[in-house]
Amino acid sequence: MRDLLGGKGAGLAEMTRLGLPVPPGFTITTKACNAYSKRNRFPPGLLKQVEEGVTSIEAKSGKMFGAPLNSLLLSVRSGAKFSMPGMMDTVLNVGLNDETVHALATLTSNERYAWDSYRRLLSMFGRIVKDIEGHKFEAILDRYKERTEGKKDTDLTTDMLRHIVEEYKALYRAELKEDFPQKPRDQLREAIAAVFRSWNGKRAVDYRNFNKIPHNLGTAANVQRMVFGNMGPDSGTGVAFTRNPSTGAKELFGEYLANAQGEDVVAGIRTPYKISELREHSPAIYDQFVRVSELLEKHYRDVQDMEFTVERGKLFMLQTRNGKRTAQAAVKIAVDMVREGLITKEEALLRVEPLHVIQLLLPRFDEAAKESARREGRYLAKGLNASPGAATGYVSFDPDEAEHLGHDEKKPVVLVRVETSPDDVHGMLHSKGILTAHGGATSHAAVVARGLGLPCVAGCEALRIDYDAGEFRVGEKVVRRGDFVSIDGTTGEVYEGPIRTIEPDFDREENLKTLLSWADEMRRLQVWANADYPRDAQRARKFGAQGIGLCRTEHMFFETERLPIVHEMILAAPEYRRVSAQHRALQAEIGSAKEGKRAELEKRLDLLGPAFEDLSRRYLGSLEKLGELQREDFVGILRAMAGLPVIIRLIDPPLHEFLPNYETLLVQVTKLRLARSDPQILTRTAASEEDRVFLDEVQEAGKGDLARGIEVLLPEKELLLAAVAAIREANPMLGLRGCRLGITFPEITEMQVRAIFEAACLLRKEGVDVHPEIMIPLVGHVNELKDQRDALEAQAKKVMERAGVAVDYKFGTMIEIPRAALTADEIAEYAEFFSFGTNDLTQTTFGYSRDDAEGKFLLSYVDRKILPFNPFQSLDREGVGQLMRMCVQKGRKVRSSLEIGICGEHGGDPASIELCHELGLNYVSCSPFRVPVARLAAAHAKLKHEVARTEDR
Ligand code: PEP
Ligand code: MG
Repeated sequence: MRDLLGGKGAGLAEMTRLGLPVPPGFTITTKACNAYSKRNRFPPGLLKQVEEGVTSIEAKSGKMFGAPLNSLLLSVRSGAKFSMPGMMDTVLNVGLNDETVHALATLTSNERYAWDSYRRLLSMFGRIVKDIEGHKFEAILDRYKERTEGKKDTDLTTDMLRHIVEEYKALYRAELKEDFPQKPRDQLREAIAAVFRSWNGKRAVDYRNFNKIPHNLGTAANVQRMVFGNMGPDSGTGVAFTRNPSTGAKELFGEYLANAQGEDVVAGIRTPYKISELREHSPAIYDQFVRVSELLEKHYRDVQDMEFTVERGKLFMLQTRNGKRTAQAAVKIAVDMVREGLITKEEALLRVEPLHVIQLLLPRFDEAAKESARREGRYLAKGLNASPGAATGYVSFDPDEAEHLGHDEKKPVVLVRVETSPDDVHGMLHSKGILTAHGGATSHAAVVARGLGLPCVAGCEALRIDYDAGEFRVGEKVVRRGDFVSIDGTTGEVYEGPIRTIEPDFDREENLKTLLSWADEMRRLQVWANADYPRDAQRARKFGAQGIGLCRTEHMFFETERLPIVHEMILAAPEYRRVSAQHRALQAEIGSAKEGKRAELEKRLDLLGPAFEDLSRRYLGSLEKLGELQREDFVGILRAMAGLPVIIRLIDPPLHEFLPNYETLLVQVTKLRLARSDPQILTRTAASEEDRVFLDEVQEAGKGDLARGIEVLLPEKELLLAAVAAIREANPMLGLRGCRLGITFPEITEMQVRAIFEAACLLRKEGVDVHPEIMIPLVGHVNELKDQRDALEAQAKKVMERAGVAVDYKFGTMIEIPRAALTADEIAEYAEFFSFGTNDLTQTTFGYSRDDAEGKFLLSYVDRKILPFNPFQSLDREGVGQLMRMCVQKGRKVRSSLEIGICGEHGGDPASIELCHELGLNYVSCSPFRVPVARLAAAHAKLKHEVARTEDR
């Protein structure tokens, strides 16, 4: 019915059918609108039907359309299938003319109102029906307002309104070379056509584009008798919800304004009172309205948002529709309605949007406070809503400072960066929110913020950040270090100054917990979480995670006190590999060498000895230290997840990510070389913050003596530069990373596996139930996995034998390269589980650089509809999805027990979760705060597919 009659028309028809008091009227269908849009004229027969409709309204109301005395006035309102508030047009008081205006004055006993209605009809009709520019009517009105004391519409006298009507008519004549149509039927016909045309008005088209509403639906036109709420104290108008749309409380919620028309409520001319006060004023009407609203809610089995008018003690219902509500209200109402027996659990689940749930778990701005910030002109800009939630805090541009303020001084900080890198994580950890000028949905800032449950606005290109000046600019506005800024990661908005936030507490969200428990009964997919730290794992578990699907071990390397050890290890690694190979070869040669040759070989081995020892100390020694630290990390995370599986991924990023930036080093080495003959040049040329930090470093190295500092630092930096230059790659994301690292430097992954098993054995001995799963990243050929599995399982075995305990573990791989998906049957021979790394799989399938695409072209691709959506946010079904489908089928054919999940960012996206359900994955893994979203989305997926299957049958 809504397709044909639109939402408003369907509601009116249904209310009429239920015997509720609705002003008599009729609805012209969306089909007629579409026919009109095509030919620019009414379809045959329409006007005759309109005439019949008017006659029927006349009969029901006892008034005549166009009669000079007891005249019928009509409203013509738009109403599409989907609510498009304020986007289309409405013409009221149709039927007023030079004669009937007097009849209205008598009818309402309010001459001023009659003339005011007439001037409104004239300007509405002129503007909407005849396209006269609105400001021309405004100019006339303003001229009269100027003459009044208060300078407002309400200050205009009846006489003034009469004059305004005359001037409006003159304007109409001057603009159109014709008079305002005095015949009510002409007005009606033209008003209907204008409502139809408003479907294709710019506002409506933009709104539909933004909200993805199809353009071919058309609007209906509802023609009804005007009812007047301004006929004295026993009249009035109101809007009400059957339940409170902000809290969900079961109470009639709304406003009523006596002796007023609908637009007066909207215009805020007088303060309406609460609907409950209507009980004191007009108990009979109130009781009737309560009965009507109860009936409507029961009938529609959902909260209703109603408009009504009381005309001389008689109630008229003007509209009813399902009410929009906050996330909190949606959850409470769904749960309450199940308890009241109004809806089923399945319906309750489908009533709550999975993504809305996140609003209940993150700090959010108090809406009123945000609105006043906007009114005060504190809105700055909008970026990408990269990680939801709200944050307000001091601006800091420096991760060290952010860490200090957040950690030591316990102050709220918003870290503002052009973009973030792994070097910034310590600052991010202690910030309330992250704001970046560049970067997309899978930029470092976005991924880390989502993982930490921190609000993040990324890619806010309007920001001009100047680290040296310690400020950012947006147009004329300047925000300095230490000023307050507020970011809304749910919408992407950025504001100057503080905005009050509301802190959430999952434990107290009883309704949400109930709803999610129903989701758990329903869903087939398990929900796991991506967590790198014990604290994230604990949070994920509290939110209902059934395992850890991805623990990225490299994050553990980035901590400030560990980085020097990591540097030492990386710098020594290539040389150690070379020298140790020589060492091994010489030893082998000695074993089989003849007498004469052996002595010479032994001498060479002796010569190699010191270098080999030094490199072993630096490389293996650093790994040993890192292994001890990692063991502690693994103990923490495995303990937090006792009884549940924990997938630990071995090192993945290219090694240069752990080292200083090549360009920075090159500049530093060049400067140091130049400064050898003139050390003060460093002081003289220190222009930027970065230069000053470097100067301090040199001073420190020389213990206050610049020249000495240069001599100490230069060889160190030269070495570092050479090492960084040696491992630099043109395409690092396609280079020496993932399993390629473990194969090239097996000692690194062996150390990690030892640390995992030492931690697991330690906990087993304490009686903790642990289930580690070792995951190899970026496998493209089965032999890569085979190589790593052989080497690493040998390590695991050794540790378990030494400890004398057996640990239940699995060995598996990520699927992130198309070739891995295509050869999944071969790979499954060596993997007990697959985990789709859809960030990389999307990158490699599309051939888009995940670090650059969003900033450079991808968002514009989406704007220009070259792509329907951002494939880094929601899985591309046709491409990436097809690879996944093939991979699941091939993998399970070889190993039916293969455990398959997803751990890319898509694991928390409801549409992608639906695809994972369809593909038969075992679980989705997402950031901890997305766990409740995913629990609900997984239930939605199951329910939708059950409905689809039933419909197919
Ligand atoms: C992925 O590629 O989807 C993944 C989870 O790994 P990362 O984002 O760490 O490359
Ligand atoms: Mg990856």
